[in-house]
Amino acid sequence: MIQIKSPREIELMAAAGEIVGRTHVEIVAPLVRAGTSTREIDQAIRDFARGEGGELLFLNYHGFPAHSCISVNEEVVHGIPGSRVLKDGDLVSVDIGVRKDGFCGDSARTYEVGEVNEVGRKVFDCCMRSLAAGIALAKPGVRLSDLCGAIEAVIRADGLGLVEKYVGHGIGREMHEEPQVPNFVGPTFDRFDPELRTGMVLAIEPMVNSGSGDVKTLRDGWTVVTIDGGVSSHCEHTVAVTEAGPRILTLAPGETWAY
Ligand code: MG
Ligand code: MG
Repeated sequence: MIQIKSPREIELMAAAGEIVGRTHVEIVAPLVRAGTSTREIDQAIRDFARGEGGELLFLNYHGFPAHSCISVNEEVVHGIPGSRVLKDGDLVSVDIGVRKDGFCGDSARTYEVGEVNEVGRKVFDCCMRSLAAGIALAKPGVRLSDLCGAIEAVIRADGLGLVEKYVGHGIGREMHEEPQVPNFVGPTFDRFDPELRTGMVLAIEPMVNSGSGDVKTLRDGWTVVTIDGGVSSHCEHTVAVTEAGPRILTLAPGETWAY
């Protein structure tokens, strides 16, 4: 069942989302540079989010051993922060989930370390444009499959790899609620294709690869990598469906969505 949030609950979600947005802008963005280890970034995320009263949702989630997911280059999602040191040219996706006052926010952003090559920039740009296409349709009366299809259309038009194995999701008191939000129109929509309504909140999160969209999981049990070694980008926002249209809940204060 899809949980409909009241206006008051949306404001609580916005407060949780704001911690996520601020963590990205104030903590992660300045730290993502050559010479920083992904563990240092993870610890800074932990310290800041906790200081703001946020509970980090990924820690111990099905046993996940860190506070954030940091996925570098060929890593798609669920990268475990550790001793890997960032270097010039890396494309780094950082995923952060926080709960505050009973409600969750979830957002991944991709960062460029120094000068990223043209392939990496193209993948990142496509991922952001596909996310924008999905966000634009988070409006009452839109079929979920139309939102998902808009994401898919951007990625297919660019001829890049669409990761089908992992999907976006409803979000609220729990990080993962119904409905699933795939980045393509798959067969599940034959059975269940809800119309979006005011008060639904979705985490929209395309993953785009430079080559094949196929992925595999490393032996650490978590890190998902491209099957062909191609580079990947993951971009996600938590978005409320409101009467006035899409409302992105995981921006930092004063930050605007201009993609
Ligand atoms: Mg996420
Ligand atoms: Mg998510």
